[in-house]
Amino acid sequence: TTFIGASFGGIAEMYAQIQKAVGATERVFELLEETPEEIIANPKTSPIEKIKGNVAFKNVAFSYPSRKEVQVLKDVNFNAEFGQKIAIVGPSGAGKSTISSLLLRFYDITSGEILVDGKNIHDYDLEDLRGNMSIVPQDVILFGGTIRENIAYGKPNASEEEIIAAAKQANAFNFVDGFPEKFETLVGERGVKLSGGQRQRIAIARALLKNPSILILDEATSSLDSESEKLVQEALEVLMEGRTSIIIAHRLSTIRNADKILVLDNGKISEQGTHQELINLENGIYKNLSNLQFSNS
Ligand code: ADP
Ligand code: MG
Repeated sequence: TTFIGASFGGIAEMYAQIQKAVGATERVFELLEETPEEIIANPKTSPIEKIKGNVAFKNVAFSYPSRKEVQVLKDVNFNAEFGQKIAIVGPSGAGKSTISSLLLRFYDITSGEILVDGKNIHDYDLEDLRGNMSIVPQDVILFGGTIRENIAYGKPNASEEEIIAAAKQANAFNFVDGFPEKFETLVGERGVKLSGGQRQRIAIARALLKNPSILILDEATSSLDSESEKLVQEALEVLMEGRTSIIIAHRLSTIRNADKILVLDNGKISEQGTHQELINLENGIYKNLSNLQFSNS
C-alpha cells in the first residue's frame, strides 16, 4: 500500500455511508436512495443534549457486517480531550474512515467501548450524538436546493446575519456574493456547478452554524488544488477552534501541530504521540513517512 493513496475500493462506499449517517441529522437524505427511517418515524422534539467533546476508544475491535471474517480494527485505544486536535494518519485501507463512522455510530463495534464524555455512545439518543458532530469529507455532496438552504441545514432557524457570518468565516461569502442570485443560487444537478473547494466551504459554513462539539475532517483537503486548499484550510482552522477535532490526513504538513497523532496501520494503532515524539522514534513509521513526504515536496 502507498501512503499518498491510490484509489481504494472501500472508500467511495464508505463515504456514501458516512454521508448517509450524517444525512440523517443534516437532512441530506433527499439525495439518498434509502431514507433513514428511525429519524423520520421518530422526530426529535426535545432539545439536543449538549456534549462537551471528550472522546475515548477503549479496546475497540470491528468487522464490517458484510465481511465478518476481516477484522478492520483491532484493539484500538485512544482518547481525545475536549478541544484537542487528534490526527489519524496511515495508508489507504488502514481503517481511518472506519473510525469516524464508528464514532458517528453508523455501525456498532464488535467489542470494546466508545465513550463520549465518559458515556458509552450506545447510551445516547442517536440524534443527540450526531447532532453534536459534523464531518467534512473529501468530497462534499450538497443537496439540490439553494446555497442558503444548504448552509442553514446546520441550523434551520438561523437568521440572515448568522448565515452571512458563517459564510464569511468559511471563506464562502465572496464566491456566493459573486453569483447573480447570491444565497438563492441553486446548486446540485439543476443548479450551478461548484468546485470541490467551494462545496467544502459551504459544508464548513453549515458546520459553523451547527456548532458541533466534535468535528471530523476526513481528508478534507486532499483533493483540492493549492489555491482552493489554502482557502479551505483557513476556514477549517476557524472551524476547529474550541472543539474536539479528529483530523484524518494523508498530507502530514496539515497535522504537525496536532495534540496527538495516531498512526494507524492495518487496523492497529502502531504509534501515538506528538509530531516531535514520533519523529524521534528510531525506525518509526511516522518518521519514515515524514522524511518521504517532506523530501518530496
Ligand atoms: P482508510 O480510511 O484508512 O483508507 P477504511 O476505513 O475506509 O480505510 O477501510 C478499512 C478497511 O475496511 C478496508 O479494508 C476497506 O476495504 C474495508 N471497508 C471499508 N468500508 C467497508 C464496508 N462498507 N464494508 C466492508 N468493508 C469495508
Ligand atoms: Mg478513508
